[in-house]
Amino acid sequence: MWLRSLFCVAILLSSIVAQNYANDSAVKIFQQYIQINTTSGNDLTPAVNFWLKLATEQGLYTNVYWFTDGYPIVVIKWPGLNSTLGSIMLNSHMDVVPADENDGWTYPPFSGYLDNNSVIWGRGAQDMKSVTIQYYEALKRLKARNITLLRDVYMTLMPDEETGAENGMVPFVASEEFKALNVALELDEGTSYDLPVSPVFYQDKAVWQIRVDCHGVATHGSSFAVLNTTAIGKCSNVINTFLALRDQEYEKSLGADITNSGSYTSINLNKINGGTANNIVPQIISLVFDVRLATTVNETLFEAQLREWIRQAGDNITLTFLQKDSQSPATIVGAANPYWTAFSKAASTKGFIVLPTIPPGSTDARFMRSAGFPAFGFSPMPNTELLLHAVNERLSVKTFLAGIEVYEQIIYNLANLPGEETSVDPSVYLYYTSQ
Ligand SMILES: [Zn+2]
Repeated sequence: MWLRSLFCVAILLSSIVAQNYANDSAVKIFQQYIQINTTSGNDLTPAVNFWLKLATEQGLYTNVYWFTDGYPIVVIKWPGLNSTLGSIMLNSHMDVVPADENDGWTYPPFSGYLDNNSVIWGRGAQDMKSVTIQYYEALKRLKARNITLLRDVYMTLMPDEETGAENGMVPFVASEEFKALNVALELDEGTSYDLPVSPVFYQDKAVWQIRVDCHGVATHGSSFAVLNTTAIGKCSNVINTFLALRDQEYEKSLGADITNSGSYTSINLNKINGGTANNIVPQIISLVFDVRLATTVNETLFEAQLREWIRQAGDNITLTFLQKDSQSPATIVGAANPYWTAFSKAASTKGFIVLPTIPPGSTDARFMRSAGFPAFGFSPMPNTELLLHAVNERLSVKTFLAGIEVYEQIIYNLANLPGEETSVDPSVYLYYTSQ
């Protein structure tokens, strides 16, 4: 009987804890933000209004910019004492990848459901609505404690990170509006990790998306046209060479350090289009390859190699770049970078073990580094199953709240770095690794 009572007490306690979290203001706005369906292509006005309301509550100055209709960029200024010093930009993206309730979600993907184990469910719980709320809550708490910051801090919210940033970070970084922010350092997204460490991204791989169109003879489906004169024959040659590169690079990836996905190039054939009828040899076949360049790859030589393989595959084959990033530099993660020192000290003060990492994918931070600004990608989610873009994306409240605390310290350390300790030229904290 006592065992049963104990069990009941435990149940009661856990429901009290869950109840407390349900009333936590940070948890509440995190849930509300997940409930706004910001799937790529959706109207982002509700998300913009959500942020304008939160900023207004704090008496903050805000701006919304559109470089393309339907793609708002929100900028929220948290003023520091000295605007002549380089500011700290806390970047995040509002958009999320699609989530279909019928794909096996335990709770609906736009519910922000808080379960009895104090876990918040929903699309964006890890990527990256959690981080945006953490930035906001950390700044709000510093302000509530009357802690003044030396440097201005800007929260910037992008509309289209998940679809290539062509209407968000790319035009923004090139704009006068961005220049006016006088940015010294950018923070951006990182990833979860199922060990007690947190990766900090200091470089991103360049993304190349390539369409290869093979043109050939169109003839009767029953004929034996010479294979190398057909679209299929030519595309088959292209596929063989490109996938041979894939095999080589896959071997390299097996030996790669977990912190350095920049040591190999990934390449995948992700789309094949073509054909008009079941009984016609098609005139044109299109292939789309997604390539992420090793950070040491020389772009000019690599492109020349691809073009040579295409030439060898047959005549009348064209190559079109759907996306072609330049190699972006790396941010110094060592004592030579005072921003790194301030950042890593803050993390360790709060018990976070950070691991400088080059991720296999890429983030908006690559556009910042390419424009000459140091950037760190950090989403404080240690001991957390990797569920970015996955079904049942979720985050424990405990991890979410610990993330606010670490951001309080990080923002405090970075925004209070004295001007005499940092260079006025932020690009001195970057270096190139491509040959
Ligand atoms: Zn993301």
